[in-house]
Amino acid sequence: MFNKKNSKTESKAFKSRLVNKKEWWFVLQKCENCKTAFSWSKIYKSVWAYKSIVCDKCGKEHKITIPGRFTFVSLTILPTLIFSDFLSPFENILMTIIVGTTILLFGSLFTPFLVKYKERV
Ligand SMILES: [Zn+2]
Repeated sequence: MFNKKNSKTESKAFKSRLVNKKEWWFVLQKCENCKTAFSWSKIYKSVWAYKSIVCDKCGKEHKITIPGRFTFVSLTILPTLIFSDFLSPFENILMTIIVGTTILLFGSLFTPFLVKYKERV
């Protein structure tokens, strides 16, 4: 019925499932045409410039999806606005700007992993 060997293989399967899940969330966007992953910096520049990504290998153009754009906004502009408008813990305006910018940049570092692109048709 249930022996040690079985539970070992089960935990192994569970572990690999966890790894797969992690990959799903933290993988960089791939080209839908040739499956080449876009570099972090390429996606990063694209989200800030609101430009589409052109694949290095096959030249296919990729556009950011609507949920992708929403993710970008909720990770960067939203926390910055909440911080500067509602909290503003500092009397010093300069300090608020510096911390606000830090939040903006920190949030944006994660966007290349979460923002999704779609092949342009
Ligand atoms: Zn490609």
